[in-house]
Amino acid sequence: MTENVDIVIIGAGFSGLYAVHKFHEKYNVVCFEAGDGVGGTWYWNRYPGARVDIESVEYSYGFDEELQQEWKWPEYFSAQPDLERYANHVAGLFVACAVGHSTINQFQNCIALCESSH
Ligand SMILES: Cc1cc2nc3c(=O)[nH]c(=O)nc-3n(C[C@H](O)[C@H](O)[C@H](O)COP(=O)(O)OP(=O)(O)OC[C@H]3O[C@@H](n4cnc5c(N)ncnc54)[C@H](O)[C@@H]3O)c2cc1C
Repeated sequence: MTENVDIVIIGAGFSGLYAVHKFHEKYNVVCFEAGDGVGGTWYWNRYPGARVDIESVEYSYGFDEELQQEWKWPEYFSAQPDLERYANHVAGLFVACAVGHSTINQFQNCIALCESSH
């Protein structure tokens, strides 16, 4: 199965999620993520008071108008849980690939999901 991979993406932060979304319809994509969830910086950094120092809306993906319209950032400068929630929301909607532990099983599961998505 691994010989069918076209693109390997390392990390399911905001960049990695976008890359998976961008490429998975045309290519067999796998995404390795060391964490147990998506969001990258906003998955790992959970210290009290962690929040953005740019407007939350700057984190919104612009590739889907419906997503743009439906998502309401609760605060101008949102806190870590809201960034992580948004990353999970986007992953659920657009990222057909499962992400998770970088184990060989997950790798194969991920390929299987990608292959079934196009
Ligand atoms: C505390 C904090 C606050 C920040 N606040 C802001 C802000 O307000 N505004 C702003 O613009 N930017 C801010 N940043 C920068 C922030 O990192 C970026 O905005 C953006 O979230 C980075 O996304 P990314 O997907 O490029 O990388 P990351 O979010 O760093 O994601 C990379 C992912 O790759 C995974 N990974 C790396 N190596 C491997 C490997 N070998 N195998 C598997 N997985 C791997 C990591 O586990 C991680 O999940 C902040 C950063 C920090 C740390």
